[in-house]
Amino acid sequence: LDVQRTYNFNAGPSALPLSVLEKAQAELVNFRGTGMSVMELSHRSAAYEEVHNVAKSRLKELLSIPYNYEILFLQGGASLQFSMIPMNFLQSGKKASYVMTGSWSEKAFKEAKLFGEAYQAASSKEDKYRTIPKLSDLIFDQSDAYLHITSNNTIYGTQWKVFPNTENVPLIADMSSDILSRPIDVSKFALIYAGAQKNLGPSGVTVVIIRKELLEQANTNIPTMLKYSTHVNNNSLYNTPPTFGIYMLGEVLGWVQEQGGIQEIAKRNEEKAKLIYDVIDQSNGFYIGHAGTDSRSLMNITFNLQSEELEKKFLSEAKKEGFVGVNGHRSIGGCRASTYNAVPYEACKAFSEFMVQFQKNNG
Ligand code: PLP
Repeated sequence: LDVQRTYNFNAGPSALPLSVLEKAQAELVNFRGTGMSVMELSHRSAAYEEVHNVAKSRLKELLSIPYNYEILFLQGGASLQFSMIPMNFLQSGKKASYVMTGSWSEKAFKEAKLFGEAYQAASSKEDKYRTIPKLSDLIFDQSDAYLHITSNNTIYGTQWKVFPNTENVPLIADMSSDILSRPIDVSKFALIYAGAQKNLGPSGVTVVIIRKELLEQANTNIPTMLKYSTHVNNNSLYNTPPTFGIYMLGEVLGWVQEQGGIQEIAKRNEEKAKLIYDVIDQSNGFYIGHAGTDSRSLMNITFNLQSEELEKKFLSEAKKEGFVGVNGHRSIGGCRASTYNAVPYEACKAFSEFMVQFQKNNG
């Protein structure tokens, strides 16, 4: 196939594996002999049910999700999870604790306060969110309804390396921007959620992995669609699910399996990010990394140049050279290269070489 693929460093929605797109293209109008597109199948049909359950079982296998967890495919993005979590699990008389590591944590925290009592277990805001707080600096109570963290901070480019042991307190994580990028011990978490549009597939599906025990403590007096139990009891088929997105998710998961699973993907992600961080570190201050070295994200590499003018020039030349999505988030500016699972090594190599050349020409 003669396809022109761009170097896509978008933060989300972001790059998808080419082979998955090509397979979806080949199957688009006649899905596996049905004479229909997967988008046209009834969500109650056997052909769709197979797609749905394959996606679930692949995720279960890839993340070694234990038997006492449910996997849900919801809508509303990770943003709706900010509200559903306190709605379901912040019981009256209890408090929810949040570790503040960036804009997404702030948004999650804001929603919790609409439903009940919530407080900050730690925050790196004063440090411009350059770091992840030390585990020993987290202050929360064993009677809390839950502790919420954001495992990877898409905007600031930081990532948790070691997760807290919360003992009796259910640990809840927004993994939107690093799920499936590295091995995780699911059993440490009571609930994991992620919008699909970075490592999992197209936007429109939100994956939730939830410990069954947590469900038993959920509030009941809330709208049906916003109860986790509604979706658990109906295999995420209470209403019409985002069928095409779930099909694409299943295919992306199949691609991860073909690549050798999460261990192999994690190894590649480390190599990819290293190419770019090495240029930053060896630039004698020409490129200034935003994240503290110990907190660096392997998914979103954030950096500045010495002046806004130089940044503008860098971004405009990067664009001309075919690197897409390298501008920082509109809230903080600067530069950001998102190196999610589907971004090839060659793209990161080409970008790192571009950075070196740009410094030579402008340093
Ligand atoms: N959480 C994180 C860490 C994100 O990066 C994003 C989006 O970029 C969101 C939440 C919001 O996700 P959504 O757009 O699916 O609501």
